[in-house]
Amino acid sequence: MEEHDITVLRLGHRPGRDRRMTTHIALVARALGARSVVISEKHPRLEKAVKEVTQKFGGNFSVRTEVKWKEFVRKWEGAVVHLTMYGEPLEKVIGGIPKENVLVIVGAEKVPPEVYKLSDFNVSVTNQPHSEVAALAIFLDRLTDSAWTGRNFKGRMRVIPVGNGKIVIDVDRGYLSDEECRRLLMEVGCEDYVISHVRAVAEVAVEIAKSCDADVELVRTAAMLHDIGRTKTHGPGHGYEGAEILRGLGFPENIVLIVERHVGGGLNSKGAAELGLPEKDMIPTTLEEKIVCIADKLVEDDKKVPIDREIQKLKEKGLDKAAERLQVLYQEVEDIASTDLDRLAT
Ligand code: SAM
Repeated sequence: MEEHDITVLRLGHRPGRDRRMTTHIALVARALGARSVVISEKHPRLEKAVKEVTQKFGGNFSVRTEVKWKEFVRKWEGAVVHLTMYGEPLEKVIGGIPKENVLVIVGAEKVPPEVYKLSDFNVSVTNQPHSEVAALAIFLDRLTDSAWTGRNFKGRMRVIPVGNGKIVIDVDRGYLSDEECRRLLMEVGCEDYVISHVRAVAEVAVEIAKSCDADVELVRTAAMLHDIGRTKTHGPGHGYEGAEILRGLGFPENIVLIVERHVGGGLNSKGAAELGLPEKDMIPTTLEEKIVCIADKLVEDDKKVPIDREIQKLKEKGLDKAAERLQVLYQEVEDIASTDLDRLAT
């Protein structure tokens, strides 16, 4: 879901007294899918604060203060909904309110009587007095059919939902610590032996990345997460499944693709389709993708092994092409690293 064509009009902001409430109106509007908030009073500090949140956390939300509200409401081409404890019950009218082009008015103190007349719908969220922030949140949830759930704002700061502690990715940095990765793996139900394996792979991958002058922190994070898909399957689809898990959590594509492309020496579109996966190439192309793919083959469980071991295994399964691709990939990374990767790994 992206933003809906919904604007929230905050009426009667009293500087000082309503500062926090109006900020919360703006933040709730943004988080629950509105496109913009307009505020009748002048408030440059609030405008700046909300813009900063959007710059950091994403989306296309806009904020404007000092708006001539009467003119704004009269010119609105769409439905005007006024939230008030005196209105008709939300559950009675929600079905008749259009889903797009909606202006939602919330007050601060007593709103001028003409607001009731200018509105197409005067809507109550219970007939009890409470808060404009709560009324707005519930109304937006119902109007958008909870479309806010699972939305990816694609912001610079991405919060990874976990039950314990905080994990936040700064996309400009793009990386997580080993401890954050471990907590995330546990959160999604990765088994202990998988976590031991990825730790060993990450160690090898980081050594290779250093020799290749690659992005070490990117490699470290992606190596730690490369088997997250094993929570779904231990088959060759675990790379694809892992990438989907990370996409769903809002991870940046540079990490996601390393995970998606680490299986075997990579899967071509035909091979992927034969395995029942989407028909797309999942072959490592960037240096960091290649490094994690190779490092994974240099570790069995949590022990370092020579590359021939994996090549032999592929041949025994009759996967000669895959064996050949892995050999070529290994050679390529070894050439860039200018060192014997087997020695580095054992
Ligand atoms: N007497 C006011 C009224 O019209 O609801 C209460 C003012 S209240 C402090 C500020 C705003 O909260 C109101 O303008 C309204 O937008 C919203 N609000 C409060 N209780 C509400 C309710 N039960 N249903 C819908 N909106 C409510």
